[in-house]
Amino acid sequence: MRYSLGFIPFSLGDFLYAAFIILLIFWLARRIRQRFKSPKMWIPDALASLSIIYFCFHLFWGFNYYRLPLHQSLEIENNYTTKKLIKLSESLIEKSNEIHSKLAKNDSAKVEYDFTKKELFDITIEGYEHIQKEFPELAYNGEALKRSLFSIPLTYMGFNGYLNPLTNEAQVNTIIIPYKIPTTASHEIGHQLGFAKENEANFIACLVTMNHPNLYFRYSGYTFALSYCLSEVYKRQPEKVKELTAKLHPGILKNYREVDEFWLKHQNPFEPLFQATYNRYLIVNNQSDGMKSYSYVVALLVNYFDDSRNSF
Ligand SMILES: [Zn+2]
Repeated sequence: MRYSLGFIPFSLGDFLYAAFIILLIFWLARRIRQRFKSPKMWIPDALASLSIIYFCFHLFWGFNYYRLPLHQSLEIENNYTTKKLIKLSESLIEKSNEIHSKLAKNDSAKVEYDFTKKELFDITIEGYEHIQKEFPELAYNGEALKRSLFSIPLTYMGFNGYLNPLTNEAQVNTIIIPYKIPTTASHEIGHQLGFAKENEANFIACLVTMNHPNLYFRYSGYTFALSYCLSEVYKRQPEKVKELTAKLHPGILKNYREVDEFWLKHQNPFEPLFQATYNRYLIVNNQSDGMKSYSYVVALLVNYFDDSRNSF
């Protein structure tokens, strides 16, 4: 799919979705006009169409949800002590501060990303070229990383990006703060490489960006990993988070705050509905914790970096 659709500059998947929605509206209008007459005709028709979509979904994508969990293929534990979590958070803070000092004017200035969207995409792909030397399974060939045509609706639905299960194109919501694009684009490519689960794609995104040759991408990566660790520390020892964030450069907190403010600005009454629908989708597709499984990324991070071979 990637080789055949990658060269099309726009997202064909987005077009398909739009066509599907338009067809559905026409179909419903006709059913209503005909007062749902002759159900023997339209019910089998509708079921046949749905089953083709369902079949394609599984054939092209859905089976990836049943892969061996990443901690098993990396041969690491999926549990960790609070002590280890705090130790990793401290190392991430140190490293994030170090990179921040090189990129920002001073400790309390946020890091500015002066890149075009295209540059951010190209550099994301460079990150995969770089990491495949160490992890051949992360080799990214047949690139199909695209801007979503639906960035505005995605923003109101609360999504950074998505992978189209029918075309395998990775769509990035390009309205989001540029600081978030390196990890988001890397996350979507992670999905394309078959890491279907959210937490695993997040871990892959951390791995690729934290090892990136570009310092801005490393900054996005380290602070992304750190944000997961801090929210996990908060669940276990809320008072410890204050102590930890006090060590963090205020400029890093400004980058975090900018992201929060972006999402707050686009909050709307329908967003929880989309998020709940996506949560249901994850549960149906063998991710029993739904969106909560996002924090499993911390287990992967702690145990991966706990291994002496991978320390930074
Ligand atoms: Zn995802």
